[in-house]
Formats: sequence, C-alpha cells, structure tokens
Amino acid sequence: MERDVRFHVALTADADSAARDHLLQHYRRGLDQEDLCFALWRPSTGGTRRTALVDELILPSEKDRLLHGNTSFCPDYLVRALDAARSAGSGLAFMHSHPTNGWQGMSSSDIKAERDVLAYPATAGGLPLVGLTMGRDGYWSARFWRKGRRGMRRLWCEKIRVIGPKRYVIHHNDALAPPPPRRRVLARTFDTWGREAQEAISRLRVGIVGLGSVGCVVAEAVARIGVADVLLVDPDRVEEHNLDRLLYGTPADIGKLKVRVAERAMRKHAAAESIKIEVAPSSIHEVGAYQSALDCDVIFSCVDRPVARDVLNYIAHAHLVPVVDGGVAVESDRETDTLFSAHWRTHLTTPYHRCMRCARQYTSSDVVMELDGSLDEPSYVANLPADDRTANQNVFPFGLAVAAMDVNMMLRYVLAPEWWPVVGQQEHQFLTAETSASREECRPHCAFRARRARGDAVRPPYLMRSARRKTMLGRFWKTVTRGVRSSGTKSSTA
Ligand SMILES: [Zn+2]
Ligand SMILES: [Zn+2]
Repeated sequence: MERDVRFHVALTADADSAARDHLLQHYRRGLDQEDLCFALWRPSTGGTRRTALVDELILPSEKDRLLHGNTSFCPDYLVRALDAARSAGSGLAFMHSHPTNGWQGMSSSDIKAERDVLAYPATAGGLPLVGLTMGRDGYWSARFWRKGRRGMRRLWCEKIRVIGPKRYVIHHNDALAPPPPRRRVLARTFDTWGREAQEAISRLRVGIVGLGSVGCVVAEAVARIGVADVLLVDPDRVEEHNLDRLLYGTPADIGKLKVRVAERAMRKHAAAESIKIEVAPSSIHEVGAYQSALDCDVIFSCVDRPVARDVLNYIAHAHLVPVVDGGVAVESDRETDTLFSAHWRTHLTTPYHRCMRCARQYTSSDVVMELDGSLDEPSYVANLPADDRTANQNVFPFGLAVAAMDVNMMLRYVLAPEWWPVVGQQEHQFLTAETSASREECRPHCAFRARRARGDAVRPPYLMRSARRKTMLGRFWKTVTRGVRSSGTKSSTA
C-alpha cells in the first residue's frame, strides 16, 4: 500500500449541477426520497494525491432504479454503466443522496452496496470504485475502494473540489483535513471574509511556479492569509540583477536558489500555526515538479516561459486545478531611452475560462522554440520586432501590481457567492491608468477544450525525467519541428 497517499475528487460544475438536479430532485419536491446514479471518472496522479476527475454522469431511466425511501439500482443499469466506463477507459463512480446536510458517513446498506456489490465489478476495468454521497445541502463526501489483502478497503477522501465558472467550492472531510483553530494573528482576516471562507483558504494547497519579482510577492500574500500548505517551483538562483525587484533578495542571497530564499521568508511571515513548504528547484516540465503541481488545489503561474505556461495550461484543463496566470509587458523607447508604455494583466484558467494559449500568453511555436533552444539564441532575439523584445523588462512596482491582481483573482474565485459576475481576466494600462475586467472563451477548436478533465491521459509530450535529458530532448524537438516559426513572447514576469 502506498504510504501517505491522499484521495480527492474533483468535479466540473456541469457534473456537479447535473448530480444535484438528479440526486436532490425528490427533496426539492418535499419528499423524503433519496436517489442514485452512476458517473465516469478519470485518474489524476500527483506526487502524493490521487484524484478522481468527474465530468460525466450516466443518469438512470425510470426503470433503472427502485425508489422506496432508500433507493436501489437494477442490474441492467449497472451493466450499462460498466460498459460505458470500459469503452471510455474510465473508472466507475457511484453517487447517492442523503436527507441530512454536510459530510456524510455510510449506513450498513451503503457499505454493502459499494463494497460487496459494486467494488469488484468496477475494479475489473483497472480503476477502483469511487463512492460519493451528496447531503441535502449539496455537500459532497467521497471514498475510494481499493483491493487489499483482506478484501475491499475503504479510503476516505480528504477534499471534493467543484470547479465552476463563477466560483470554486471545496467540500472538506474534517476528520482528515481539520479546519485550523482561529488564531489571534489572523483575527482581522477572519473578520474580513468570515470563518467559513478562512477555513477554506487555510486548507488550500497552493502552488507558486516562478519565484521572481511576481512570485515572491504572491508568496508573501499567500503566507499572510494563513495558507498552510505550499509548493514552490523555480530552477533559478538569485543573481545580482534580480535584486532590484526580488522582494526577499539581499546581496547575501546571490547564488542561492530562489525557492530557498522564498521558503525562508514564508516560514518567517506565515500566519498559519505551522506551514508545510515543498520546494522543487527544477522546471515545471520535469516530472517531479509536474507531479507535485498535480497535488495543488490552485496554482499561480509567475513564469515568463512558454513551456511552463503550456504545462500549467494542461494542468488547469486536464486535471481541474485552477491556474492564475499574470504577466507584465513593458515597451521602452530605445532611441529616447524612456518608457513608452506598460500594461499588466491576470487571468484565471479553468475549463470554464479561456486557456493561456487562447489568451495569447504563449504560442505553440514559442513552446517548440524553447524546447529546441532557439528561443534564447541571440540571433533570434536580435531579429524580433522591437516591441517583442520585452522579456526582461520589469520593475518592482509593476511586479507588485500584477502579483496583487493575481492573488485577488484567486481570492475572488474562492470567496465569490453565486450572485457575483464571472470574471476571467483583469488588465491594467499604466499609460491611461485604467483597469478593466473581461470574460472571454477559448477559440472553438482549441485543443485544450478536448483535454478537459482527462487527467493522466493527456500529459504534455515533452515532460522530462531530469534536467540531464534537456539537451537530448532539444535535439529531438529540433528534428520534428524544423521550420516552425514563432511570433515571440509578449509578456514577462521574471
Ligand atoms: Zn446512504
Ligand atoms: Zn484555449
């Protein structure tokens, strides 16, 4: 048995609302009647977390189940659900409802149905049965059923995440992920958005990819709002020319890993009683860091590299981990040696929000050029039109502004009640001092739409085992992609 593995479920808002409409239909009509249905799930395998991604329900017809206060399914319905799971290469999930609110335990007949009737046939497809119960208030509880030495073993889930267009709702198993005590140091934070919101924020596992000028300020905010579980990813070391915009950097830090410098400061400034910080001094497209990122509930993309953005785009869409991406674009007039313009923006990426590629934060050819090394070749950079040569221009106040936008975008997504409008992107123009919000969608044929909730099935093709394979991979990509041209990177956060 794997040690320290945690189990989670993530649902799209479509699956969640279809389940609600079906499972709670009788309660809504004033009847004391449960209901049930099957669903398909796909695996998302992180470093220490196994998540069942649910996007598709198999709803019963009238003759598929018997309603008698409790409810039971007919054999034909199970056969139909198993066939659907097999042909989709998915796991089988079983859902039913209870008349009480909140996290639900299991009755003896619930256990019999899942462990003795469903778990074995479901596992025949190679993936364990996932059982979910919805309380009358829509609160989910869930468990995996794994084959052990002494029969089927029940493994309770820690969290059930629902990813929606307006908001991000997380249902917690308080026994496995208890809410932290109300600390005096966080009294004003609790007063600002309330206990329930703070309990959700403090139990998030937050990833920060890129610990440059933007990432460090994001890290500071994340530490101050009481987050207790963090992943930091950045392969770079502090250099002298970073010090004008690196929040935590001092001359004594030159040569140190950026993730270590950020970790040290976060431990000092954390408002949580204790903070768990995993550091990955590597690129996000190296397997270890990639898998640790799949353990996160939300990720900040504070990078200016197309490959990293592409990997995070996969994670957001295929693995249902919301990503907040920010960027700064600065234009300086070389002839007059003055600032011409600057703007920065942040946007949320989920299956319900525009992907980073459709938002033009990178292009596929940028990815190819970074992988084959030509993105950094001096001849390529020199041939770019002047307004594309923005890769390293940024200053502390601009970084501060985009980092604040990023964190507030995340908070807005976690805190939003149903009536707040959907916002996917926020942009600020330094020249006109105007901030605008918008919501746009992916292009109709965007490949990331088809990757929605597909989990492990669609990992990026260029993931690396370790940094040593970089050169080899570069050569491989150079061979397959010869002749592809790029329009150049447009925004930078480094
Ligand atoms: Zn039950
Ligand atoms: Zn897209």
